[in-house]
Amino acid sequence: MAHDVTFIPGDGTGPELAEATRRALEATGVEFNWDVQQAGIDEFERTGNPFPPETLASVRRTKVGIKGPTTTPVGSGFRSVNVQLRKELDLYACLRPCKAYEGVRTRYPGLDLVIMRENTEDLYAGIEYEQGTAEAARMIEVIAELGSKVRPDSGISIKPISIFGSDRIVEAAFEYAKHNGRHKVTAVHKANIMKFTDGLFLDVARQVATRHPEIEFEDRIVDNLCNQLVSRPEEYDVLVLPNLYGDIVSDLGAGMIGGLGFAGGANIGDEAAVFEATHGSAPKYKGLNRVNPTALMLSGVYMLRHIGEVDAGDRLEHAIAEVIRKGEKVTFDLKKDRNDPSAVGTAEFADAVIEELGR
Ligand code: NAD
Repeated sequence: MAHDVTFIPGDGTGPELAEATRRALEATGVEFNWDVQQAGIDEFERTGNPFPPETLASVRRTKVGIKGPTTTPVGSGFRSVNVQLRKELDLYACLRPCKAYEGVRTRYPGLDLVIMRENTEDLYAGIEYEQGTAEAARMIEVIAELGSKVRPDSGISIKPISIFGSDRIVEAAFEYAKHNGRHKVTAVHKANIMKFTDGLFLDVARQVATRHPEIEFEDRIVDNLCNQLVSRPEEYDVLVLPNLYGDIVSDLGAGMIGGLGFAGGANIGDEAAVFEATHGSAPKYKGLNRVNPTALMLSGVYMLRHIGEVDAGDRLEHAIAEVIRKGEKVTFDLKKDRNDPSAVGTAEFADAVIEELGR
């Protein structure tokens, strides 16, 4: 049976990357009914809305989306499409597998870990009071009434972490571990300092762990984790983190596997999941058929597994890995010299992956 999937090409280099990924996904033999929907700056320039309601309605209907990157112009006053998607669909789990493929320049060959970041709470909840405003002054007053002192010239960001939000993200990490042959979940926090927020996250994580006795559980303080991640990364398997640490450690992970070009990902909720690369729209390469589609293709691999097409996901990942390992038909960023004339384009990289799939 064909899978209904919302296909959002995005803008900048998004459409080229999405097209390469669509062809590779179809070459696995899995059938899709693509519902092509628009989002991003081109859509904004055409209609005044970067995120049309039909796009959201489509993801609600299909429950699965794959999305090319979309530009968020600085200071334009338009909200990031990604933030809107996450909020509207309550995509509370950000999945970022970090795997170093042979042939990629990295100091961490063999690295293979998974980061599960909470997406809705913490200091990124958007509860902020600007220095000098009446709201900030009021907050400072309330805090004083509660017995603590904040300097009057402060800006304030609030860090909410709930039992509900912690339970579902840690549960998602254990479920991911169980369904993907992983053996250990590590909860990452700063509970020694922030007892009522990170401490709560850790307490809940410990409780969730008791529901999954077959998976090992441990916790790490985030600064110690960063230290150990770059010295003994093989000790880690699945990491689960509140929003802010998750954001930072995800980029650390991307750096360790050779860069954003290899960092695929997904935003997952109970109702829907949207699969997309970690990198942005790389607008300077728009229309040039130059950029590397690996990260979006890997996001496609995670999508295949998510919809139950595990074998196709494994085959596509293997084909991508083989093209990278051979190092011939790869994009400029995978060459030793970025000006190497033997580098191929986005479409030709996809052709090479499709050829590998047929072997
Ligand atoms: P970027 O990821 O687009 O680019 C950073 C650097 O990496 C650039 O040098 C770029 O050319 C290079 N690069 C990115 N992807 C590449 C690829 N696939 N192959 C080869 N090189 C690649 O980050 P940016 O320049 O900070 O952001 C550009 C726009 O993308 C911004 O408007 C930003 O808001 C948006 N953005 C979107 C998403 C998303 O849609 N998920 C994520 C991040 C940034």
